[in-house]
Amino acid sequence: MTTQSPFFKHVQQEKILDPAVVETLLPLPDHQIFQILRDQYNLPEEQLVDWARLHHPDILQPTTHLFPDNQLHSKFETGLYRQHRFYPIYETEDTLCIVLDNPFNPICDILEKQFQKPIQKISIPTLKLEDYLDGTLSKEPVSILNAILEAAIHKQASDIHIFKLNQKTQVKFRLHGQLYNFQTYIGKEETQLLALIKFHAQMDISIVTQPQDGRLHMTYRGNEYDIRVASLPTVYGEDFVLRIFNQSGTSFQIESLGLSAKIETQFREMLNQPNGLILVTGPTGSGKTTTLYAALSHLLHTQNKTIVTLEDPVESILEGVRQSQINPKIGYNFAQGLKAVLRQDPDIIMIGEIRDQQTAQIAIEAAYTGHLVLSTLHTGDCESTLMRLSTFDLDPFLVGHALRGIVSQRLVRKLCPDCKQAGCVTCHYTGFQGRILLAESLSCVSKTPSRQALNDPKQFVKEADYRSFQEDIATKVQSGLISAHDPF
Ligand SMILES: [Zn+2]
Repeated sequence: MTTQSPFFKHVQQEKILDPAVVETLLPLPDHQIFQILRDQYNLPEEQLVDWARLHHPDILQPTTHLFPDNQLHSKFETGLYRQHRFYPIYETEDTLCIVLDNPFNPICDILEKQFQKPIQKISIPTLKLEDYLDGTLSKEPVSILNAILEAAIHKQASDIHIFKLNQKTQVKFRLHGQLYNFQTYIGKEETQLLALIKFHAQMDISIVTQPQDGRLHMTYRGNEYDIRVASLPTVYGEDFVLRIFNQSGTSFQIESLGLSAKIETQFREMLNQPNGLILVTGPTGSGKTTTLYAALSHLLHTQNKTIVTLEDPVESILEGVRQSQINPKIGYNFAQGLKAVLRQDPDIIMIGEIRDQQTAQIAIEAAYTGHLVLSTLHTGDCESTLMRLSTFDLDPFLVGHALRGIVSQRLVRKLCPDCKQAGCVTCHYTGFQGRILLAESLSCVSKTPSRQALNDPKQFVKEADYRSFQEDIATKVQSGLISAHDPF
């Protein structure tokens, strides 16, 4: 007696065929039943796939266009695809993804054995599979994505925003902190673009309702770019943000940061100390990492010392610096990383960000015991940085002896040098062109704060060498670099 498969039972229950006909199908395997219902009884393919999926949720339907990895062909015999009616799309460590027009195709078992990994089956209509087999869909139209990436890199955009709207997709570039429209895509181009991003960023194409992270690599005019991709599900599909990182030795220099002469001098003095804690603070996107990289480059070129960093993420490669990527998902956080780094006893340590009491504690102790420690805090100015430090419940004595100084910063819009805010072609009629750093600094290099000041941030600021934001703003407004009416 032949056992009934769930798929067969379902076909039986649907009662769309004469029960006598259905009976003749009983001894057949699912893939033949599927084929007969489709080809001889002309049941709609989508309907059949839906039924199959009820009992086999591993059968996927394409959520986007699929672009096959042509390098896979070397792993298959010529003629195999047509003979067994499938086409390979991509292979990862965990799976081989194929398209097929019969979800019960027995080739899956054979491939699973051959590749020693589960097969991701994407069920597509027969005519569509023919396009793959004919080779019309096997060429990858990477040009749309490439064109966008090249334009963004050429314009020195920091990131690309891709918004999926109703029936169209809008691409915008962030230049100097502002978003500008690049292009809108519709129809086939739109579908291709969204598919290409997910495919090349190695994101799971079957997931559309959860945010995902991915990565792209790009070479442009001899420079290497690492592009980090994040997706966000929305009512119309998925939005994407692509952040661009130049991997080819961007030079970071303190003199290029745009600090005022007084603040730059103070910053250099702090860096020339053999040990202690230096904090660079500011909101997200205020250029803190750039300032720290410039500091590390300076230290690397002026002192013969070992430098180790803990970063989340590593944004640029600094030749000669040992950079370590934090990964909280696997439990490798800043505090743990710091403990590991200290065992190797480096001279200079950069910690991407102090987010918790434990990291703060280890950092201040390391600074007190002979290491130069550089880090960032998410605070608005020097005084609030001291207040934030006090919430970490650190020994005021240690803070007083280890803290070398604070640089607080933010990036503001720079007036267009051509029109000075009147609006012209250069500035896209915005009146602004690029961004400029505003900073304040507090140095304790030559003045160790008093016992009283350690418990009182206001007193601390008074006693230390302090250059305020107001001073910097006034100078830059006077030089016509920024507008006095911009909110700071
Ligand atoms: Zn202008």
